[in-house]
Amino acid sequence: MTAPLGRLDSFPRAALGHLPTPLEALPNLSADLGRQLFVKRDDCSGLALGGNKVRQLEFYLGEALAQRADTVLITGAVQSNFVRLAAAAACKLGLACEVQLEERVPGKGETYRRSGNVLLDRMFGARIHSYPEGEDEAGADRRINEIAEALRAEGRRPYVIPLAPGHPPLGALGYVAAARELLAQCAAAGLGFDEIVVASGSGHTHAGLLFGLRALGCALPVTGICVRRPAEVQRPRIESRCREIAELIGAPNPVAAADVVLDDQDLAPGYGRLNPALREAVALAARREGLLLDPVYTGRSFASLLRRAAALAEGARLLFLHTGGTPAIFAYQEDLGGGA
Ligand SMILES: *Cc1c(COP(=O)(O)O)cnc(C)c1O
Repeated sequence: MTAPLGRLDSFPRAALGHLPTPLEALPNLSADLGRQLFVKRDDCSGLALGGNKVRQLEFYLGEALAQRADTVLITGAVQSNFVRLAAAAACKLGLACEVQLEERVPGKGETYRRSGNVLLDRMFGARIHSYPEGEDEAGADRRINEIAEALRAEGRRPYVIPLAPGHPPLGALGYVAAARELLAQCAAAGLGFDEIVVASGSGHTHAGLLFGLRALGCALPVTGICVRRPAEVQRPRIESRCREIAELIGAPNPVAAADVVLDDQDLAPGYGRLNPALREAVALAARREGLLLDPVYTGRSFASLLRRAAALAEGARLLFLHTGGTPAIFAYQEDLGGGA
């Protein structure tokens, strides 16, 4: 019989995170809502203000080190947390870093371009390139590969972290492993949940977590909150990521079509743009729990969690996977400063 997580533990992995991350109750909001809310603090994953990309980078940069790369290349939105954490991890591991920032959010000003994650990218000494399009994943990947080619011609050893689907989802393995971590914490604390809510962007986090839970025999409903694309576009991405994870680790795919649950009700007006429910969620988490949510991912996914909690029975238990994004708060200060 094959192990449920296949070869997961034989992939090279760079130790970057402070793991396990805490699993905490949100007592004040739970009392307000009459539902029991908990949070898995992947915003506290240790490296450079934390976030979900730390777990993903452990696998990408494990491979980069195994290939004896000397430079990491990555592309993302201007306020990408992935880019910031790749730059930080590169510093920690003694690698150079080149980043490409894409124009994905319209109508943003100087603070968006200089503060938050961009400030940190600069502090980590990343060389910054820009890409004029925000919805052209293949083009952005092509451009970053051209930069890698030029580095190779200079005798360097670049490692590209790909953006578009069609590559082995190494990053998702971080969340397959996180599912195992979470189940161990739940068992130790005697905790069970009715639903777990997670932001679904590239889908590495959502697919990896869902795969890991199902592979380990846990039927807990996982709801992916759409932060970038509508549910009907995101669904096939999650399904194919799950198939790719199975192939990558050499284990059966335990995820059925019915396991892939997506909620896009809070997506408007689109990626990286605020709406009233998101503002309200950010304000509530801050004022009732001293918990910081970001304006791109966790503000939106927590808004959806609050709406979903209200539709469940009194006393229902929900777990929020806090995926990080803290630095973006400072890049969006004009949007957040006025409160809800
Ligand atoms: C990237 C990111 C997400 C989305 O994770 P994916 O694995 O790309 O789906 C969610 N929250 C934060 C803060 C992120 O930076």
